[in-house]
Amino acid sequence: LVSRKKHPDNTVVDLKGVMMGDGAQRLVMGPCAVESYEQVLTVAKALKERGIRLLRGGAFKPRTSPYDFQGLGVEGLEILKRVADELDMVVISEIVNPADIEKAIDYVDVIQIGARNMQNFELLKAAGNVNKPVLLKRGLSATISEFIHAAEYVVASGNNDLMLCERGIRTYETATRNTLDISAVPILKQETHLPVLVDVTHSTGRRDLLLPTAKAALAIGADAVMAEVHPDPAVALSDSAQQMDIPQFNKFVDELLASGLYKG
Ligand code: PEP
Ligand code: MN
Repeated sequence: LVSRKKHPDNTVVDLKGVMMGDGAQRLVMGPCAVESYEQVLTVAKALKERGIRLLRGGAFKPRTSPYDFQGLGVEGLEILKRVADELDMVVISEIVNPADIEKAIDYVDVIQIGARNMQNFELLKAAGNVNKPVLLKRGLSATISEFIHAAEYVVASGNNDLMLCERGIRTYETATRNTLDISAVPILKQETHLPVLVDVTHSTGRRDLLLPTAKAALAIGADAVMAEVHPDPAVALSDSAQQMDIPQFNKFVDELLASGLYKG
């Protein structure tokens, strides 16, 4: 069902009026984790000023260590919804438990399935059973074929509003947190008809690489770039090393516009 051979036309996903897959290239930005109403509001206002309506933020955080901040859960979803209602933003947030999918559709505009859950088939089926767009991230060690099969689970369950996200894979290289597989973008676009995003924050794990990798993603034809923004990354409860602060975010957008790759 996701194969380009069967469906030559691009899937265009309508995110409350922001189209994904129509040829325009978008930015999806926001904090790693929802920490407070003020934190999300500050970031969302900065995004809005630059014409960005796609707001990401994690309420359920799948952390490597059980002792790290696990997210605010439903309270985090409530904060995202409140900010989105106030500023007309589109909320993208990860859901980790199949049992939470039904509840989440009242709060989020896009259900994100994270890298660690790419092959959580019950979660994929649950997300496929609801009428809400899904953003599926590539697994940490998933081949492109496995990624496409995971996507097939969502669409086979009845949900056609699916987007894919390359977010780096595990290799022997340690200079970056993961290795951004940039060639996955044209491969996924050739093999499937789905919108393809590139997450430059989690793939690199390095603030200094966000801009060059975002340019590469736009140049190679990604439908959107995802990156994290926090009012004060030094005190962020997760991903402190790679989130941009608001001035850095503005510079990031300025430089993408100046490159001619991002049209705004
Ligand atoms: C995220 O986008 O918040 C996230 C945890 O990313 P990933 O699942 O790609 O690690
Ligand atoms: Mn993060």
